[in-house]
Amino acid sequence: MKAAVFQSGQTAPGALLHIEDVDLPEPSAGYVLLRVVACGVCRTDLHIVEGDLPPIKPRLIPGHQIVGEVAGGATVSLPLGTRVGVSWIGGVDGSCWFCHHEMENLCDQPTFTGYTVDGGYAEYVVVREDFAFPLPSGLEDAHVAPLLCAGIIGFRSLRVAGVEPGERVGLFGFGSSASLAIAILQSWRCEVYVSTRGEAHRERATALGATWVGAEEDRPPVKLDRAVTFAPSGKVVVNALSSLRKGGVVAINAIHLDQMPAFDYDSLLWGERQIRSVANMTRNDARDFLKLAHDLNIRPMVTVFPLADANQALLAVKNETGLGSAVIVP
Ligand SMILES: [Zn+2]
Ligand SMILES: [Zn+2]
Repeated sequence: MKAAVFQSGQTAPGALLHIEDVDLPEPSAGYVLLRVVACGVCRTDLHIVEGDLPPIKPRLIPGHQIVGEVAGGATVSLPLGTRVGVSWIGGVDGSCWFCHHEMENLCDQPTFTGYTVDGGYAEYVVVREDFAFPLPSGLEDAHVAPLLCAGIIGFRSLRVAGVEPGERVGLFGFGSSASLAIAILQSWRCEVYVSTRGEAHRERATALGATWVGAEEDRPPVKLDRAVTFAPSGKVVVNALSSLRKGGVVAINAIHLDQMPAFDYDSLLWGERQIRSVANMTRNDARDFLKLAHDLNIRPMVTVFPLADANQALLAVKNETGLGSAVIVP
């Protein structure tokens, strides 16, 4: 099969992945083989190939927003041809303290799709059967893909921030994840305040019905109940914190931050304000979000790339060019 392979230590700017012929993977018990029909590109993929996250496998096929059809290892619950989605959390041990306390997102021995095991920048992929989510019909493959990480993690971020219906919520940064989260916030009748760099992102936020839209350094005109930061920047977290009311929460939707700058405790964190990180997701987050996305008919804007152009797809995410989410269709 064709695959886009990342070899740690062998990268050049603009050519982080090599398109190669590799052996078709074989599913063992508990796993299914999927024919990949679409795979979304996530900022985390960029963190992996640029070395912000330490390499786990010397040769890796990235990609963790996989839409695929069961093509091998079929089971009663996942017959041949079933369309499923696979996300970043590709497996847990089921035995650690966190798994026993309904926090499988924090599992001590997790499997991460497209990081600790091969992912979906390929024609086929093998995944754990119990981490493949049957997908609702109605959405085209390429439009489902960005829901599988950007969508689910954006949704989890709203949960971690503790958003209640009708609240004032700030979104700091407005890429793929935020543009999906705004649809959920609107269904909860929240006021949404968007602060982001890039005229295209501001226009998109306005078009999607944000209450207020400003530049990265602008502050919303009201105090926020909750905020979610999407940019991989500690400065943005401090900006969000400075916009919170007392008792408010900032949830950080980023697997990697450049660094957290020093900030003034008395004026920014005192008053029971909270900063929380958002780590991975649970299967319940995935199922709940996919159902909500279906009910709300969330249809992300996407730019499609063939597998041969996987490097261009990564660059589109890096440089925030292209409209909406980048999706590879092999
Ligand atoms: Zn565990
Ligand atoms: Zn992701």
